[in-house]
Amino acid sequence: MSVEFKKIRSQVRLMNPFKGHALDEIPFEIRFDPLTGETGRVFDLPFKAEKPNVADIVDRSKKIFCPFCPAALEKSTPEFPKDLIPEGRIKVGDATLIPNLAPFEKHAGVAIFSQEHFLPMENLTPETMRDAFSASLLYLKRVAQSDPLVRFFSINWNYMPCAGSSIVHAHLQPNAGEVPTNALRKQLEGSRRHLLNHHRTFWEDFIDAEMQNGERALGKIGSTFWTMSFVPASFLPDVQCIFPERRTLIEMSEENLECFLKGLSKILKYFLDENVYSFNLSIFSTKEDESHRVNARVCPRLLPRPIGNSDIAYPQMIHKESFTVRPPEAVRENLLNAFRF
Ligand SMILES: [Zn+2]
Repeated sequence: MSVEFKKIRSQVRLMNPFKGHALDEIPFEIRFDPLTGETGRVFDLPFKAEKPNVADIVDRSKKIFCPFCPAALEKSTPEFPKDLIPEGRIKVGDATLIPNLAPFEKHAGVAIFSQEHFLPMENLTPETMRDAFSASLLYLKRVAQSDPLVRFFSINWNYMPCAGSSIVHAHLQPNAGEVPTNALRKQLEGSRRHLLNHHRTFWEDFIDAEMQNGERALGKIGSTFWTMSFVPASFLPDVQCIFPERRTLIEMSEENLECFLKGLSKILKYFLDENVYSFNLSIFSTKEDESHRVNARVCPRLLPRPIGNSDIAYPQMIHKESFTVRPPEAVRENLLNAFRF
């Protein structure tokens, strides 16, 4: 088997006060990512997220200056140098793409979805998301044409403050640079290793393996394949999307994007059903690498307890080890129900 879903089962023994102080065992798994070999801890705890007070977050955000609202956008946001984007800002439908004033990369954009300050998660449909993604793809294509040194691309999204967004006004962050992030570098190393050892891409073998295994796969939408991650990155299980035909974001077609947005809107509907009102999304890409394929990850984000604690703590922050309270296999059926419609 060229793609292995390796896990080590373990358990914690303790005298449980909720079971009359009798000896009890809490099982958990240490799982190994089939591409990178990185580990994550997966528990099966009776966790249920509580619905956050979204109206309160939106109210607070309206009391703070928002540079992306129509009254401020023209005056308070930067423009691209004319040699990169002659028109200064990219406009596609309702979306406006500007340079990121807090850049993470050599080329860093911000694609503002629309003039609406708050785009409720319930309204994140392919229609409301399309313009910002199209603008981001257009920006990355223009960057690739004008800067031959750029080799790595991503489109990223922090939706709502709980996912790290400092501005509620919905926006994507397309990036392009010369050095991959840790996550993309590890993907690339694993992909090249797999191609060298098996003479097939990891990604086609991975899709076959997940389809055969049947415990996590959600299915295909046109040119995209969807599955829950074997080693989730987040506190609750996350979802991966693979574009098996696409080596680079620069060549993404309208059909690719439509399939992605269709799947994404279903995933977000499932998150809503689970009282999750925040998420991180990244689409990873190289400029061109025969071993690699464009792929995305959508991670639910939440404040686990009423005290408002972060779902990222020492394991993820310092140990670089994911910690997940529900196995993806245990929640897949609910996600599949949202995915079918
Ligand atoms: Zn705004």
